[in-house]
Amino acid sequence: MNTGKILVFSAPSGTGKTTLVKYIMTQIENLHFSVSATSRQPRGKEQHGIDYYFMQPDEFREHINKGDFLEYEEVYHDKFYGTLRSEVERQLHEGRNVVLDIDVKGAINVKRIYQDQALTLFIQPPSIETLRQRLINRGTDTMEVINDRIAKAEYEISFAHQFDRIVINDVLEQAEAEVLNIVSEYLQA
Ligand code: 5GP
Repeated sequence: MNTGKILVFSAPSGTGKTTLVKYIMTQIENLHFSVSATSRQPRGKEQHGIDYYFMQPDEFREHINKGDFLEYEEVYHDKFYGTLRSEVERQLHEGRNVVLDIDVKGAINVKRIYQDQALTLFIQPPSIETLRQRLINRGTDTMEVINDRIAKAEYEISFAHQFDRIVINDVLEQAEAEVLNIVSEYLQA
């Protein structure tokens, strides 16, 4: 049976990771996004089953107890995020390549499980100040949330060296080209 590969993207919030992930998914065939589960509330136009499987904390804990998650983290206090085994394993067995957009610890765990079958990419902002400005411009979060995310970003950047590849997203088109190169090369190898 064919076996696909896993591409894991991590980045501080507001780094342009979602844009980059969407971009490569339009450029490379046979990439399938793994929809994560979360106990946080939907933001903006996010839809259940497309952006996330939105769950109540109790429902999330039930899935933890049943062993349904490949990995999960409490990324923010009481805000759980997890990759469902069912989202990943079925696709891999069908020879599909799976894209994960998860936090740094989740990414490192997935790499530990799948080793050469997974490539981890860390998308880094050019600086913390640029990141702060981007989060303000995005307009989806309060100042308090933004300050939390900045503190979190500094922590996340300290894990960057544990990733297979680091891409600095300064000029979006350059970062897109770089990610496309890295991913194409990895999938062909
Ligand atoms: P947001 O609330 O901005 O959508 O996501 C917050 C963080 O949780 C991001 O770093 C995102 O990549 C991460 N995240 C999303 N899904 C998962 C998941 O399934 N597992 C883990 N470990 N982190 C996730």
